[in-house]
Amino acid sequence: MNIITIGGDRYVSLYDLTGRLGVEHSYDIYLGRGTLYYRNHVAVYTTGYSCMLIDGRLEKDTIPVVRRDGDVLLPLSLAKSTIDSFLEDREAIARGNTLIIQELRGPAIKRDSEKIPEKRDRITFIIIDPGHGGKDPGAIGRGGIKEKHITLSISRYLVTSLKSRLKGISIHLSRNNDRFIELAQRADMGNNKLKKNTNGIFISVHVNASLSTRISGFETYFLSQNPTNEEARNTAALENNVIVLEDEALRKKKYGDIEYIEARMITTQIQKESSMLAASVQKGLDGKIKLFKSRGVRKADFYVLRGSLMPAVLVEVGFITNAREAQYLLKNDYQKNIAQGIALGVAQFIQKYNAMIK
Ligand SMILES: [Zn+2]
Repeated sequence: MNIITIGGDRYVSLYDLTGRLGVEHSYDIYLGRGTLYYRNHVAVYTTGYSCMLIDGRLEKDTIPVVRRDGDVLLPLSLAKSTIDSFLEDREAIARGNTLIIQELRGPAIKRDSEKIPEKRDRITFIIIDPGHGGKDPGAIGRGGIKEKHITLSISRYLVTSLKSRLKGISIHLSRNNDRFIELAQRADMGNNKLKKNTNGIFISVHVNASLSTRISGFETYFLSQNPTNEEARNTAALENNVIVLEDEALRKKKYGDIEYIEARMITTQIQKESSMLAASVQKGLDGKIKLFKSRGVRKADFYVLRGSLMPAVLVEVGFITNAREAQYLLKNDYQKNIAQGIALGVAQFIQKYNAMIK
């Protein structure tokens, strides 16, 4: 296989790779996402991303996958990892301008790609995602108060709080004004920042609603196809409902089979880390909020968390449908308190995480 060099960056043609290996390939032009199939192996790439999911492992490069002249160019290291994972007993070696495939050298142990531990990188950025916005108000409480305004305000406090606690980590807001963003786009904002030697955290901030005005309290979620209970399922359904406002033609593609397969392919490692992050955030909130009940860590199938390739959680900071809690949720001091609780949890997670990967 030829190695293509463009401006010092090295790539392999996907057309070349699939042809040589007999790999099946499907490409979704709307999402810019392709899937490679070979026997029981699967690899997923997205153009513009510097990472790929290869047999359920996340691999990163410093440069993104690009489209060129009807072909897709994979960064050399990602092409090599794909071949190594797919062929099991062979490996790809770069020699000059050629990528050669040869028998695995050294001890004749067949490589079990599933047992190769994923390399973890230090957290270098955080995406704060204020729920809803623009034409999507989110949950609406008494007197017409809107979730989208509360989530933005808390998220801004969260940025300030995180910046003062964490040095050398960049903090980004998915929106910093009242505008509509699709769910899939929100996860994308984190994923396309993933590069070699970087990792991120994704935090979506929401306000809960219930038919029962008596229910109050805060809870933190991580992604799972098996919700904790009926309540958790309902909360996810409520938050997922926004897709009715998204472009109809694209909706099925984004939240249909492909996305589902991808969600299931998210490594157990990322899920484990997300559950750790959720526990830490909830603990941070527990320490700060004494007026309302801690409803604990829960799991459910939130679309906004589905595509995330990094530890991701969704915080439901309280119930807009509870008159007393809604009153507090509108207060700046209470919003700051919530932000500080979340920030404390995030900081403690990062400390633990960085110690773990050393
Ligand atoms: Zn919401």
